[in-house]
Amino acid sequence: MGQGLIITGAGRGIGAATAILAAKTGWYVLVNYHKNRQAAESVCEQIHNQGGFAMIYQADVADESQVVDLFSFANQQLSSIGGLVNNAGTLETSMRLENMDGARFDRVFATNVKGSLLCAREAVRYMSVRHGGQGGSIVNVSSVAARLGGPNEYVDYAASKGAIDTLTVGLASELSEDEIRVNAVRPGLIDTEIHQLSGDPDRINRISKYIPMKRPGSATEVANSIVWLLSNQASYCTGTFIDCSGGR
Ligand code: NAP
Repeated sequence: MGQGLIITGAGRGIGAATAILAAKTGWYVLVNYHKNRQAAESVCEQIHNQGGFAMIYQADVADESQVVDLFSFANQQLSSIGGLVNNAGTLETSMRLENMDGARFDRVFATNVKGSLLCAREAVRYMSVRHGGQGGSIVNVSSVAARLGGPNEYVDYAASKGAIDTLTVGLASELSEDEIRVNAVRPGLIDTEIHQLSGDPDRINRISKYIPMKRPGSATEVANSIVWLLSNQASYCTGTFIDCSGGR
């Protein structure tokens, strides 16, 4: 049996592309989703059709008991957990900071930061050799917004991704003797449905001209970096970042 890999938010976008690619390389994938069951089922079906193994599991990553249950389910169904991709993420309507309310900060940080912390914690409990596990690999999905700051659009989202970068550095060091590597991918402008949440349907076209490569990336281009960091080919990489952003 292949090693188990949990990918949060894997029904759509970058998570879905990562699930499909990871399954091709032999991972047994748990496709977590939040609301869109149909999309998650479709990812599973594609993986089964290509001869891979995948299961779906509904959980809100911001909810502690749901995350605990997610990992317990994965541990039972996948025999051993060897990887986590902290991919689930969200953003809200583009605006300047003075127009945002506190409830929005709670929502964005709950999914992007608390969700990643909870999932990483559970992954450590199952994967660390300190706790009887076999070690493994965590890949956090950050954003170039952590570097650029998201001015005039979503400095809250950018700050949440800054937290993910800090988590990656700290946890990589904390877990180096637990045989768990922790790395991050910082995607740039990627052609997925997340941009619809910004309220600007033309966002991808509007921003593409500012990217050195003059185009958005695809979810599969990001998935290639994530799956490489998960793999043993990245065996000496921990606490590091791949900016998959067309030079931006
Ligand atoms: P997407 O197409 O909108 O997909 C987001 C996924 O996250 C969906 O599968 C969604 O589940 C899931 N999700 C959202 N909230 C969740 C929650 N509370 N619990 C569990 N799952 C949840 O977005 P994407 O572009 O692929 O983004 C994936 C990651 O890449 C995010 O962390 C995002 O910040 C990051 N990123 C994206 C870009 C970009 O340009 N696209 C750039 C930089 C970074 P449902 O399908 O069930 O709704």
